[in-house]
Amino acid sequence: MIGVTENLALIKDLLASAAEAAGREPGAVKLLGVSKKQPLAKVLEAASAGLSDFGENFVQEGLEKIDQTRDRNLTWHFIGHLQNNKTRVVAESFDWVHTIDNLKTARRLNDQRPGALGKLNICLQVNIDNEESKSGITADELPGLAASVSALPRLSLRGLMCLPMERADEEKQREPFARLRKMAESLRNDGIETDTLSMGMSGDFRAAILEGATIVRIGTALFGDRN
Ligand SMILES: *Cc1c(COP(=O)(O)O)cnc(C)c1O
Repeated sequence: MIGVTENLALIKDLLASAAEAAGREPGAVKLLGVSKKQPLAKVLEAASAGLSDFGENFVQEGLEKIDQTRDRNLTWHFIGHLQNNKTRVVAESFDWVHTIDNLKTARRLNDQRPGALGKLNICLQVNIDNEESKSGITADELPGLAASVSALPRLSLRGLMCLPMERADEEKQREPFARLRKMAESLRNDGIETDTLSMGMSGDFRAAILEGATIVRIGTALFGDRN
């Protein structure tokens, strides 16, 4: 069986070659290891191999892993659907939340972010294919929510996140990622500067990097099938 360390080296090579193909620096793309439903041992192996950033979808599972890796100095990203009754523990324990799609949740995180910690990093989730089954705001809602969130003092609005539907080939995969990039550009024209595009998973990260992803969220390609 190939282990996490080998997978990590392989993925880093693939990220670097995608960045190169896009004329970008390899260091411009951060790899987020999505460890949901994966055992702690795999997180520890990846951390020992040099991975610093991890993503979790479920609050309780994430809190346990954060607690069990305190000595490793890792950065934890919440990438699941966030219920308002769980915002406090997320504000207290995570470094990033990628899935903000309403002002109420953002306000709660802002109010609950402990003063002793830095600002909580935020991405707004855009429902890029307007799918009934997925969370996220529409393109029309984005400017208003971005303006409101960027005014919250304990949050740092870093950028946009999307989770497109599956598409068969790279050309088609690029299309929703290009649209997200253009949304960030038009926010910039409105005076809202961001530096993060959280887009691309195991099956489409090359297309995402070609369109400007700065964080790719990779689970199965790194850790294997989930439990
Ligand atoms: C599970 C998940 C991923 C990782 O998906 P893989 O296909 O396993 O790489 C990335 N982003 C989000 C939001 C997820 O829920």
